[in-house]
Amino acid sequence: MSTIVACSTPFGSSGIAVVRLSGGGSHDIVSSLASCSKEKKHNSPKLYTLLDSDGSAFDGAVINFLFGPNTYTGEDLVEISLHGNPVIIQKTISLCCSLGAEIASGGEFTRRAYMNNKIDVSQAEAVASLISSKSLLGAKLSYKNLSGSLLKNILFIKDKIISVVGQLEFNLDISEEDLQPNLIKNSIKELDLVIKKISSAADSFKSVNILTGGASVVIAGPTNAGKSTLFNALLEKERALVSRVAGTTRDVIEKTINIGGVPFVLKDTAGIRKTRGSVEKMGIKKSNEEILSADLVLYLGKPGSVLSSKNKNVIYVLNKQDILGEKDGYDICISALKGTNISKLKKIILKRVSSGFSDSEFIITSERQLICLEKSLGFLSVAKKSLKKSPELELVVEDLNSSLNFLDKITNKTTKDDVLDSIFSSFCVGK
Ligand code: GDP
Repeated sequence: MSTIVACSTPFGSSGIAVVRLSGGGSHDIVSSLASCSKEKKHNSPKLYTLLDSDGSAFDGAVINFLFGPNTYTGEDLVEISLHGNPVIIQKTISLCCSLGAEIASGGEFTRRAYMNNKIDVSQAEAVASLISSKSLLGAKLSYKNLSGSLLKNILFIKDKIISVVGQLEFNLDISEEDLQPNLIKNSIKELDLVIKKISSAADSFKSVNILTGGASVVIAGPTNAGKSTLFNALLEKERALVSRVAGTTRDVIEKTINIGGVPFVLKDTAGIRKTRGSVEKMGIKKSNEEILSADLVLYLGKPGSVLSSKNKNVIYVLNKQDILGEKDGYDICISALKGTNISKLKKIILKRVSSGFSDSEFIITSERQLICLEKSLGFLSVAKKSLKKSPELELVVEDLNSSLNFLDKITNKTTKDDVLDSIFSSFCVGK
């Protein structure tokens, strides 16, 4: 396999940046670049001088030579910690390329780790969600799966199903009267346990998704209700343009805030009202779309009004409490301008979104994993139903095997190229 090179730290100026190489040629390439001796010890970082093609030194760098298979990718690997100046980083990478390396594509280091059996697909997905997580809680959950928690849970569940399949297969050619006593009852009991575990893992996806990607909170309501003022009050600084002229906020503005460790992507929408202005109309259409797709809506208007019944997670807020006073029927009365009850509103926001959070050990971090779990669950439910009715054991075994196949897809090695492409496409270059 070719030798790849990329900068693993964000582009720009920084104290230190890390350029990483992986592949059979990586040690030789870096040895020429830094005139290192042939004798190298695994994982023993040392200070070297980086040399340009004419032999002139352009930086001092700590270089760590790592020998496969005991590396992240499973191949020989080198980490060059150099000064974080884009010019130096670029020079180092282009010298590596002139010595035979190729620029890595996004996620290629992790893809190689996967190809070389260092990690399974679910762990690769956990790396992606660990890197992109918007909260510490989300990062912790992703790290659990990176450490193999999902694999462990899948294996536990598979074992249970396999033992039911084994029992049923043992009784395949036996007439119904002569079946092992309690076979059906025990099998149903085991399947119930497995179904419960998988269902709770599938349910966990929404909360994991919120903790890693953030819950979207849309602030909606009539023009001049105080949406932008509330947006700013929640951000605790001036952000959106606030003016007395109706319809100032024409587009959706968003910003991420953190409440109680949970990230919220706060969105300020244009006022929902009938208008002839085309720019305003576009804003209104967009705000309606945002409302439909939001995890939570803060509606600054009459309780029960306007919003689609599809969206149940709505907090009805009475704003301008300082001039309007308290009114019944609202979830909370606030003054965005004076800052009254903003922290109380934040508590309600947190409670609404985190009420479904599970503290289960068995969690999933990607949509793909969710689909596999749901498919597996579908076959398990059919198998359980068949067992309850008139047990045709052969069909039940077939359904259980199909459910096992979908569980395998979550972690296994034979994942199709296009699935891998979509998993690794979300990675940044250098990971
Ligand atoms: P939007 O069109 O819903 O985004 O409304 P804005 O945030 O632009 O607010 C419209 C007007 O209402 C501005 O003049 C704000 O200063 C005022 N306003 C917003 N919140 C309050 C509040 O709590 N009390 C009072 N008295 N005025 C407010």
